[in-house]
Amino acid sequence: MKNGEIWYDTAEICLNGHVSNEFSISYPESNKNFCDKCGEETITECPICDANIRGYLHIPGVGSLSKFKAPSYCDNCGNPYPWTAEKLNAAKELADLLDELSPEEQEQLKKSLDDLVKDGPRTVVAQTRFKRILSKTGPEIVTGFRDILVDVVSETVKKAIWGP
Ligand SMILES: [Zn+2]
Ligand SMILES: [Zn+2]
Repeated sequence: MKNGEIWYDTAEICLNGHVSNEFSISYPESNKNFCDKCGEETITECPICDANIRGYLHIPGVGSLSKFKAPSYCDNCGNPYPWTAEKLNAAKELADLLDELSPEEQEQLKKSLDDLVKDGPRTVVAQTRFKRILSKTGPEIVTGFRDILVDVVSETVKKAIWGP
């Protein structure tokens, strides 16, 4: 184990995004082949570029700063991790089921989902569009999207769309 320096552990995360071990290097005895929450296979590397998934940030003399959260995108190749891609797909499928929307609105909703998850300059535009289109659906749809996206959108997006 490295002493006296700041380093990232490697996280072990299931394909659905459950963090099974954020200390897979320092506490390998807690590693699991399959998720104990959903039974999916776990990974410690990006399936596209094989870079390790960043886990817990070890800072000597400092305890845990915040709860570890599965990252949405690979910091090495920029592709969405499997759980992010899966949630985006699920949300887009839900968008396709909304008969109360026109096909154009469904398309706009799906496009805004990518930007919502990305947390870039277009996120605010996407938020506004997403809210406007969702206002034409029912509260159970709004809740449905929240349940799918809750772990892959930022706190700011969550507050802006679904309130505190
Ligand atoms: Zn899982
Ligand atoms: Zn990658």
